[in-house]
Amino acid sequence: MEKLINCPLCNNTDLKDFLNVKDFFLSKEDFIIQECKKCGFRFLNPRPESVNLQKYYNSEEYVSHSDTSKGLINKAYHIFRYYNLSKKYKIINSKKQNGKILDIGCGTAEFLKYCKNKNWEVAGIEPNDKAREISETKNHLHIIPENEITKLESNSFDIITLWHVLEHISDLNFQISEIKRLLKKEGYVFIAVPNHLCYDAFKYKEYWAAWDVPRHLYHFTQSSMKTLVQKYNFQIEEIFPMKLDAFYVSLLSEKYLNKKINYFSAFLTGLKSNHKAKTNNNFSSLIYVIKNSNV
Ligand SMILES: [Zn+2]
Repeated sequence: MEKLINCPLCNNTDLKDFLNVKDFFLSKEDFIIQECKKCGFRFLNPRPESVNLQKYYNSEEYVSHSDTSKGLINKAYHIFRYYNLSKKYKIINSKKQNGKILDIGCGTAEFLKYCKNKNWEVAGIEPNDKAREISETKNHLHIIPENEITKLESNSFDIITLWHVLEHISDLNFQISEIKRLLKKEGYVFIAVPNHLCYDAFKYKEYWAAWDVPRHLYHFTQSSMKTLVQKYNFQIEEIFPMKLDAFYVSLLSEKYLNKKINYFSAFLTGLKSNHKAKTNNNFSSLIYVIKNSNV
């Protein structure tokens, strides 16, 4: 295990334990989420060494990397995913109508295939070997492994997307500095991440599925995302909700809490989460639209 001494966001060394969470999804191991006493940022600490992290993804059930539609939750995920593809594309399209797009953590490259069909020039990065293989054989897209990001040309992308990916990346600061390097001056970055200030997180506490330890290393809020991007001279232009995530995360959380899923309770929690978020924008997941700062 690797223990972080400094807060990855503000570098402060004064950290406290926030919550003990089990890896309900795969290993059943226990982990600690810590909180920075200065800026409030929450992150997994200690965490598995990055070379050991891959084993926590080795499951047929890890749906973002596979194409299985077995089981109701996987079926729901695939329906959500299809809906989300068009929704994500619409948001991008509202900023840029064509150009070159990089999807970091592209999984099996479904989103890139969607963009390619809309005449975008596409590129993808994905650490999982099996997912890269599926991209190649099924979607006919060549995807590069994580360590090859440094080989990509500076100032070459109009759009860079990270759909539920940034929370998985070990070296957060390196990743954002690489995004800064790769993005054209007038380009946009789209980052989707869970938001632990939502009602479903409050309700399910340590059973909230989006803690997803140890795969989620960082836990963002609107405030911490703002701090992070400002460090690299970016600014948040807009924030969009991902309303389906409240339902999906609630379904999974019910499974972790009760072993047997209470569909009715999950549905009500999803509704309530989205309703409460109308006042403060604290939806279960948020899409941040980020651009180079004018100042
Ligand atoms: Zn901090």
